Amino acid sequence: MQQDSMLDIDKNLESQAIMLQESIYPALASNQTDNLQQRILQLARNIDIRLTVIAEDGTVLADTDQNPTSMDNHRNRPELQQALEQGRGIVTRYSHTLSQTMRYLALPVGDDKLLSGFVRVAMPLSLIDKRLDHLRNVVILAASLTAIIALLVGVWIARSFAMPLRQMTNMAQKLSDGDYQQRLTIDRQDEMGDLAATLNQLALTAAQRMETITKDRNKLATILTGMVEGVIAVDETGHVIHMNEAAGRMIDAIPEVCFGKLLTDVISIDAIDDAIKQCLHTRGVVQSELKLSSPPRYFELYATALYEIVNRPTGAVIVLHDVTELRKLERVRRDFVVNASHELKTPVTAIHGLAETMLEDDNMEVDTRKNFLKKIRDQSLRLSELTTDLLALSRLESDGTEDFTSINLADIITSCSDALQAEANEKGVTLNAMLPDNELIVIADAKLIRQLLDNLLQNAIKYTPAGGHISLRLTVDDKQAIMEVEDDGIGIDTTEQERIFERFYRVDKAHSRTSGGTGLGLSIVRHIVKKHQGQVSVQSSLGHGSLFRVSLPLANS
Ligand code: ADP
Repeated sequence: MQQDSMLDIDKNLESQAIMLQESIYPALASNQTDNLQQRILQLARNIDIRLTVIAEDGTVLADTDQNPTSMDNHRNRPELQQALEQGRGIVTRYSHTLSQTMRYLALPVGDDKLLSGFVRVAMPLSLIDKRLDHLRNVVILAASLTAIIALLVGVWIARSFAMPLRQMTNMAQKLSDGDYQQRLTIDRQDEMGDLAATLNQLALTAAQRMETITKDRNKLATILTGMVEGVIAVDETGHVIHMNEAAGRMIDAIPEVCFGKLLTDVISIDAIDDAIKQCLHTRGVVQSELKLSSPPRYFELYATALYEIVNRPTGAVIVLHDVTELRKLERVRRDFVVNASHELKTPVTAIHGLAETMLEDDNMEVDTRKNFLKKIRDQSLRLSELTTDLLALSRLESDGTEDFTSINLADIITSCSDALQAEANEKGVTLNAMLPDNELIVIADAKLIRQLLDNLLQNAIKYTPAGGHISLRLTVDDKQAIMEVEDDGIGIDTTEQERIFERFYRVDKAHSRTSGGTGLGLSIVRHIVKKHQGQVSVQSSLGHGSLFRVSLPLANS
């Protein structure tokens, strides 16, 4: 650049020299050099260049910076020599005249045949340096400005890319952290805008998918939590990945504590362990039965292999179904059939035996025959009572056979006690009914309530020796109608009290049978009370009597 500037300066000097050459040529050619000094001073008025006119012999004719007469002959000046030889002389050298380094440019003046002299233009090197410095400064300033502008533009461009990129990075981070509600507000028409729109769409889709997954998971969790069946899921290494509350209750474990642990570490139930191993091995459903003790509980166990990847089990699900109640009911039913058959068989066998004897003995005495026939009548009566009670029980066990109406309990109590008064008198016991003045209304099946009272009163008569007393009371306690049948009879031992409501349970079988008991009376009472959302209880002391208490909700409660 410095070289270019130097060339520019030289060109400038040359054009000044040419101008000077043209301007003074006529004067030099005609040898009219008087006004030369004045003319070049005029020419150099507005420029910083030294002009010199030199005669062909080297005499200085005019000079803008020195008095020409005081100047020595310039014929040997290198620039003049060069001009003479090459048509143009250009030299940088120290000027003794001006005591400073100058850039000289000399041109010969004249035509091809005759040299009239020389013109020389010169410029102090300091001025050139100054110009070059100035130029350099301008260039540096321009370059700096360009650099600053470029930097600013760069920063602006970088910012315009960096900011949305930062926002997008933040958003991607939040997406990976599970926050799908974030949205970008980058409104651009370029690739950055497209990327932002794609990220927003991604967040929206992810949010919708997460919502669906969460809904499904909650639904599944609700179903599993609400299930009565126990559900345990383990992975292929046997670690618990799910356990619902029902399962926790069944196997006495806390689900939250079991998560992530080896199932064999948290419960040691071989049947479950075996079922998991077997189902993972056979890749099918394994069904078995599980019995847990204290208290005894029975479970049906189903184990199924879990498949997240086709053909390779990734775990197993165990479903436990509590069948304790079912097993109990089955046992009760079995016992009932055995008991009922036994109860029915006794009178049938007796009747059969009596009839056979009578048939075989043609000469049986009349009294004996009468006695046999009486026994047959008693046994058939017993059979009839048994079947009546069994039918009553089976009716009570099937729903929808009741006829609920508003009934006044006092009326039913009066009619029952009146009906059994004769029987009590015959046995030699007194029967008293104590009733309140006001009506006590309950919503009940009148026939069933009558049956309930009959059973309790007949028991009281049966198990109270002659001379005893029976009281029948009706009172109110906390929105409940209370019916009490109290006797001062034989009483029931404390250990027997909770069993007397079971079917066919009798404290003293022989006594019960001889007094016409079937062992079903209190069981029927319990069923009737249950049908009316009431309660029945007994207080008794052996040898002192019993108190049966039935409470039924009052109609207006
Ligand atoms: P049962 O037909 O034998 O009376 P229940 O079911 O009515 O059958 O009664 C069961 C058993 O409870 C009776 O066998 C008897 O031992 C006892 N029991 C019931 N009521 C009384 C009572 N009032 N006093 C003493 N024992 C009673």
